[in-house]
Amino acid sequence: MATTAQPELETPAQPTTAKAWGVESAGAAALPLTIERRALRPEDVAIKISYCGICHSDLHMARNDWGMSRYPMVPGHEIVGTVTDIGRGVSRHKVGDRVAVGCLVDSDLTCEQCRAGFEQFCATGATLTYSGIDRQDGSLTQGGYSQHIVVREEFVCRLPDSLDIAKAAPLLCAGITTYSPLRKYGVGPGQKVGIAGLGGLGHMGVKFAVALGADVTMITTSPGKGQDARELGAHHVLLSTDAEAMASSANRFDFILNTIPVSHEVGPYLNLLKPNGTMVVVGAIDSLPGLHGGQLVMRNRAIAGSLIGGLPETQEMLDFCGEHGILPEIETIRIDEVNQAWARMEKGDVRYRFVIDMASLA
Ligand code: NAP
Ligand code: ZN
Repeated sequence: MATTAQPELETPAQPTTAKAWGVESAGAAALPLTIERRALRPEDVAIKISYCGICHSDLHMARNDWGMSRYPMVPGHEIVGTVTDIGRGVSRHKVGDRVAVGCLVDSDLTCEQCRAGFEQFCATGATLTYSGIDRQDGSLTQGGYSQHIVVREEFVCRLPDSLDIAKAAPLLCAGITTYSPLRKYGVGPGQKVGIAGLGGLGHMGVKFAVALGADVTMITTSPGKGQDARELGAHHVLLSTDAEAMASSANRFDFILNTIPVSHEVGPYLNLLKPNGTMVVVGAIDSLPGLHGGQLVMRNRAIAGSLIGGLPETQEMLDFCGEHGILPEIETIRIDEVNQAWARMEKGDVRYRFVIDMASLA
């Protein structure tokens, strides 16, 4: 029988354009933009984006709150979609797969941190999904408020079949950012856990802590969210603006996950920890006024931080959600509603994550 040589997989040699929404300068409103996606490199996966979540970090970054923003900026790091093409060296994904991309799109993959699965701490600097600098051509990375994206295969996760793709996007940031510290600190049965701030991150924190078997208290500034917190699975609700309730909850928690997005007095929250308890801050990348060593020393308490999660743990989190049927509570919006969504998110008026239906960008 005659044999014919297998042709090499053809991949686009030319960059493509994508419709997107983004901001042109710090604090500007989001508006339609056209961006370029690179021609596939051998290790690249091309993804048609179905949905993208809106993280509070998108708002911080659009406004340059952290002094690291680059413009024009297409935000979005909670991305789910379908593989439309692969580079000739790709082995992990194939055309048609349902996939997900979070906050990172590249790193050196060789340093101590990358080899340990902590790509977010790459010694040569991880490449952010947006407002990052591409390691090979120096171009600006652009995120998920767009029709499609090109990402190297190691930074593309598999979306479990059991997860509804229309709801899953927020897992890629809100999900991993809360799952990672809960796992690292061994949250589980017999432990009293507080989740501070019922927003995108906080509501996932409640769901994960409940799934891990802890006794969970929602710590909120919003009296109106108590019922929601219970529906999400929280066993108790503590109003942080109620001084008496806070005082009577002193020394109660083994672990607190603090998702409050702005600078705030941490003392009242630290007082809630038992001796040997830990509070992990994931929200405020800012000064934490009023921190007094006595609150730590006199009770062996600890305060720590946590940044998203590495790629292996992100896949583990997605698989955990697939097994336990865990999905975010979302409000689906059109892309042209993104400015209103940002304004509502800033007021705490979101239950509990906005997700953009990218079909509205067609
Ligand atoms: P979000 O949806 O806006 O939720 C934040 C919640 O915090 C609000 O709903 C509100 O809940 C509470 N809150 C707001 N202002 C407050 C204040 N002044 N004092 C006390 N509580 C307040 O935000 P998100 O998307 O969950 O993000 C939360 C923060 O995490 C953002 O700063 C974001 O940039 C950051 N983040 C960090 C990482 C990481 O890797 N560490 C990853 C993603 C996001 P209540 O109404 O219940 O009080
Ligand atoms: Zn985020």
